Amino acid sequence: MKEILLYKSNDSIVANRIVNILDVNNIAYRQHDETMDKRPGAYGPIPGISIYVFEKDYDRALELIDPVIKDNTKGPQPFCPKCGSKEVEVIPRPKSTKVVILLAVLLFLIPGLYFVYSRNLDIRSGTLDIIAIVLLLSSIALMVISKYQNVNHQCKKCGKKFNHI
Ligand SMILES: [Zn+2]
Repeated sequence: MKEILLYKSNDSIVANRIVNILDVNNIAYRQHDETMDKRPGAYGPIPGISIYVFEKDYDRALELIDPVIKDNTKGPQPFCPKCGSKEVEVIPRPKSTKVVILLAVLLFLIPGLYFVYSRNLDIRSGTLDIIAIVLLLSSIALMVISKYQNVNHQCKKCGKKFNHI
């Protein structure tokens, strides 16, 4: 019986998922790992794991593995940066983040303008210098806070909130 190449992937996780689906549905297949082959270039420039099925099963197999292939092209799934869990949920970004960022910019601009123009305007004094430096430091603190607030995912396992585009 004629065999047809069903899928070729250089990702062994995807290949495993496809093989599992074929197993569950009693579709005979042959798996060939070209990366284990000692003949370089024998399978074209990019060797991968090839999965072959019989011609009669091809259409059904293709339909069954369709979700895996679509899932695979979606890009990397977000995972928790703390514990590595993939069980993460999307949470809304806090509205306060924009306010904090705006405040940080203002607190940075005011002392910045003061240091640039105070000499010309002859308003420079020790007290104002200290206030300006305090404002600058609070601006930096707010920027750090906004970085932690700017999150849209939360780990279901450890509760860590993080940002993922
Ligand atoms: Zn976690």
